[in-house]
Amino acid sequence: MIQYVSNKGGGKPVGFETAILDGFAADGGFYVPETLPKITKEQLNKWKGLSYVELAFEVLSLFIDRSIISELELKNILKTAYEPFEKEDIIPLHPLKSRKDTYIMELFYGPTISFKDVGLAFLVNLVNFFLERKKEHLTLVVATTGDTGPATAYFTAGKSNLDAWVLYPKGLITEEQERQMTTLQHANIHPVGVSNCPDGADDLDLVIAKLYANKPFKEKLKLSSVNSINWGRIMMQTVHYFYGYLQVVDTIGEQVNMSVPSGAFGNLCAGGLAREMGLPIKYFVVANNKNACLHRIFSEGRFSKEDIIETPSSAIDILVPSNFWRFLYFRIDKNTEKIKKWVDEFNSSGTVTFDKETFEKYSKGFKSYSATDKETLDIINELYTSENYLLDPHGAVAVVAADQLKETLGNEKLICFATAHPSKFPEIIKRALHTDVLPQAATHASIELAKELCEKVHLCDHAHLEKALLHAMETNWDLTKGK
Ligand SMILES: *Cc1c(COP(=O)(O)O)cnc(C)c1O
Repeated sequence: MIQYVSNKGGGKPVGFETAILDGFAADGGFYVPETLPKITKEQLNKWKGLSYVELAFEVLSLFIDRSIISELELKNILKTAYEPFEKEDIIPLHPLKSRKDTYIMELFYGPTISFKDVGLAFLVNLVNFFLERKKEHLTLVVATTGDTGPATAYFTAGKSNLDAWVLYPKGLITEEQERQMTTLQHANIHPVGVSNCPDGADDLDLVIAKLYANKPFKEKLKLSSVNSINWGRIMMQTVHYFYGYLQVVDTIGEQVNMSVPSGAFGNLCAGGLAREMGLPIKYFVVANNKNACLHRIFSEGRFSKEDIIETPSSAIDILVPSNFWRFLYFRIDKNTEKIKKWVDEFNSSGTVTFDKETFEKYSKGFKSYSATDKETLDIINELYTSENYLLDPHGAVAVVAADQLKETLGNEKLICFATAHPSKFPEIIKRALHTDVLPQAATHASIELAKELCEKVHLCDHAHLEKALLHAMETNWDLTKGK
């Protein structure tokens, strides 16, 4: 049985189901598996040619004991999860014409058209599976920079064992993203638009941490989370690295580079772990926008929180890439004492500078770049003009970073991740293309439909968010469950 422990060393090891349903570990740390499964070249060879869902079954089976979820049950959860995706291959790869051996991994064919669908489709259905079996109910609370919220809301909508409260910083996500949450009419979905967040969605995470710390409240409502603190997200996200690799290589063992637009480091934490498991990735490009927290970590060895800057790639306007702590655990021989010390230091002072040895250990195999707004907009324009391919601003950040680091990456095949559909960011696309008329490629039927639906949302100011949430959530609970 694989056991899960906190990366900060507190509490007792727990099983898979507890790790998934709790979200956070008891000491506030992140759950990590005690050991990472290893995969061999022979296994990779066998997996070549599998569909995304078949591959997901194989990869997840390394982490989930059959005694917890049977083969048939896992297959059913996966089937339900990926049914609403628009493309049969779930995450197709698109070769670019203008760059040699370069592919765009299109992670935006889920129902809310961002990469968050890829992880949450599975995780929410997994949580629901456990709850139905236990006949229990959970209240999910998530903060969003624009994409986690819609995906959580979509997959939770109508599930009778779950309620979802999705908090977003009003004005800092696009109207299109907002409407994906607020136009759902299901009684178990509760979007909360929060005005005046000085640090964007990072502020909302702090309030969620306070709700968690409020023991009586947490117990009464059975709070949990499916944001990227949840191990299930990371585990599921390892699959697209395996899938992308197997799609582009000629022979197993060949090395590949991957460029990933990054905010909270949940996506790349999964990539880093896939490589630890044995996937032959040469370099990961950590692609940041001007909020360059990860770039500072990977280029200078400094984890520091600075003021937020609004950029065209708003889903990665994140100040604290918390999943870095989870990844670091695996790179420093699982030294939980050190992690705890650094997390405490960061929480009290806002900065940690890593020693040289630690820096070398975690940064090996990573390159990083911080893209400017102009570079981001220019690349959208360039690819649209030259090869009629429209990137969203986050995919654009990944391509910019890979272009800029080309010399140091080498000639291996390159996969750049496109994490959202451009229709979520119409104003940015207009700016990039210097036009007032949106091209067809920047529209999507689901986005158009949401423009014509009623909105249902809780509004609140950041100054009294905690109190307001306690009231709204508890009242809702008493009215619907307290009977
Ligand atoms: C969430 C998100 C990212 C960043 O992923 P992390 O796991 O937070 O690093 C990138 N692009 C888009 C469009 C996203 O929604």
